[in-house]
Amino acid sequence: MSSRVIRMAATAGVTALTIFTATSCSSGDGGADAKVTPAAVASPHSDGKGGQGEKKEGAHWGYQGADGPANWATLAEDFEACEAGREQSPIDLDDDKAVQAPVDKAVTIDYRPVTAELVNNGHTIQANVPAGSRIVIDGTSYELKQFHFHLPSEHTEEGEHTAMELHFVHADKNGKLAVLAVLMDEKSGASAFADLFKRLPTKEGATAKITKAFDLTAFLPGDRDQYRYEGSLTTPPCTEGVKWTVLKDPVTVAPDEVATYKELFPKSNRPTQPLNDRKLTEVDK
Ligand SMILES: [Zn+2]
Repeated sequence: MSSRVIRMAATAGVTALTIFTATSCSSGDGGADAKVTPAAVASPHSDGKGGQGEKKEGAHWGYQGADGPANWATLAEDFEACEAGREQSPIDLDDDKAVQAPVDKAVTIDYRPVTAELVNNGHTIQANVPAGSRIVIDGTSYELKQFHFHLPSEHTEEGEHTAMELHFVHADKNGKLAVLAVLMDEKSGASAFADLFKRLPTKEGATAKITKAFDLTAFLPGDRDQYRYEGSLTTPPCTEGVKWTVLKDPVTVAPDEVATYKELFPKSNRPTQPLNDRKLTEVDK
């Protein structure tokens, strides 16, 4: 992937490089916020010519083989949390291990209709959205930055995957991240994702704009019962300190939509990680 990205940057100039790196390997789950520095932008796919490549920051990674999750920590110095971290994501969600919390601990979701820029960043389709949608966790507001997909699901429920998983990535005013995860069950019939999945940019680095505002709440289940826990990015550099909320009820995705996505990204889930000393909380609304 690196060489292709470098070629693209060389031919398309700074704009393409900026769009790509702000949403790609360097940032993973946490991408598309304002924290991408010029140095970080320059480094992720540099081959050294840019003078930023020596530390292998933002090195190439993937989901299978030598670049796969088992080896992420060895691919770059700043990926070491992928192995050394004790509060990693995703996890298995097991009711027997969950502690019930009062309903006022529930994360509230306040999403507005949005336009979006879809980006194929080589790992996922990411939709960058304008400001205005948020979730509130324990009184702190986290603004929605982007959402993206994984196949199959990253979180499991008692060991079982769903076909896909949707991650809504938010940041508070200090840049702290909170992800809302929605499990996607493959089922025939009506799917809220039909329009979006017709527009997926198929080539790595390609983008597509959705200029007509659409309702994000259509991507959420009606029931907001949820799990909460403290975790990490599920992509390198696996940074911890991410507040996770996983809705218990799945939404429906159509078989042909799953097939379409699978053609672009055959496998994009990190295996579940040990819970260790963390508390898994469940809040039934
Ligand atoms: Zn994700």
